[in-house]
Amino acid sequence: MSTSTERLDALRGGAAPVDHNARTVAALAGNPGCDRRAVLDAAGISKRDTAVHLGHPAPFGQSPFALARARSFEELVKADRCAHLLRLLREALGLPIPAIAYLDIPQAGGQATRELRHARTRKELRQAAESAVRDGSGDGTLVDHPLFTLPVAGHEVYLDPAVLAVQAGGRFHIVEIKSFAVIDGAADSAQVAAASRLSAVYVYALKAMFAAEGIDPGLVSHEVVLVCPKDFANHPTATLLDVRLQLAALRRQLSRLTRIDRILDRLPPDLTFSLEQSPAELARAVRAAEARYAPECLSTCEMAYFCRSDARECGSLEVLGRVTRDDLGGLDSVDAVLDLAADDRRAASEHDEIAEQLRHVHAIYRAHTAAEAVVA
Ligand code: SF4
Repeated sequence: MSTSTERLDALRGGAAPVDHNARTVAALAGNPGCDRRAVLDAAGISKRDTAVHLGHPAPFGQSPFALARARSFEELVKADRCAHLLRLLREALGLPIPAIAYLDIPQAGGQATRELRHARTRKELRQAAESAVRDGSGDGTLVDHPLFTLPVAGHEVYLDPAVLAVQAGGRFHIVEIKSFAVIDGAADSAQVAAASRLSAVYVYALKAMFAAEGIDPGLVSHEVVLVCPKDFANHPTATLLDVRLQLAALRRQLSRLTRIDRILDRLPPDLTFSLEQSPAELARAVRAAEARYAPECLSTCEMAYFCRSDARECGSLEVLGRVTRDDLGGLDSVDAVLDLAADDRRAASEHDEIAEQLRHVHAIYRAHTAAEAVVA
């Protein structure tokens, strides 16, 4: 019998795997009931390319202008082997860091594969942790382009963070560089909340890596260093973000994910999501993995337009959102709801209360539209 890894490779059909990032882990954890996303992500399949091949591309991600701005700000912060960043870290962490080693994982030894990058990340962070424990504060270590792995739904995924990990004063911090501005000491709260959620994924992954290496995960701080442009200039400033709440939520959501091997057991053994097949064949293959569409998918998943179209076609209540679906608990389609509201069908006894509320709302709607027609 093939292993989960072999089956996931077969599902990908020879395409190069796409690594997870904090955004994908956070989105997956935000919809733990969706087998489709879980299996596509675990197999490292590009959801963007899949959606395009299916004829349902989603306008997703940052604009080219925003990406270019983010890239140039990151280059500025990391210029001269992170000289700017080191100054900010000394200020933000309030530490006299006498000497700090800068390690760039991809450049180290010309390594390119994920396995080698991950092995090198583990080795450097383990050495930094051992020296932190042995010497107390010791010298600092700044690790750029680390590659973490994280157990997601019982499957080990690679996590390629656009962050750095720094050991200083015996603690490890994740450093996140973002291009949204901090003006008069305050930043857009939605952007800060999103950055906190993403940073929590990296903190979680670093703690998991330490635990797997037999290192105390408590060495990883729940305070993340957030580096942003200050005021209206491109001058970087650093602040500490406490991500304890986001960590707790993430831990809870990841524990609710169905294990990948159980999802694979429910799929046909010869299933593939290869883009070599026709869009109709690919659509059939994708539908074999159960989806759990919700309007939130539109802002978190590249497959959203395809899944929404399917959910609409079968009249699923999912398109109305989780709150409405839960309020209409027990009813299985939009048609069933409309029939009850219009009094076209007898309600089963367990739906009496829902039927009464639907008819009440329907009566208000009819009275309102009739009044509007008179005014017009
Ligand atoms: S868009 Fe589809 S695949 Fe993505 S999370 Fe929603 S239901 Fe799942």
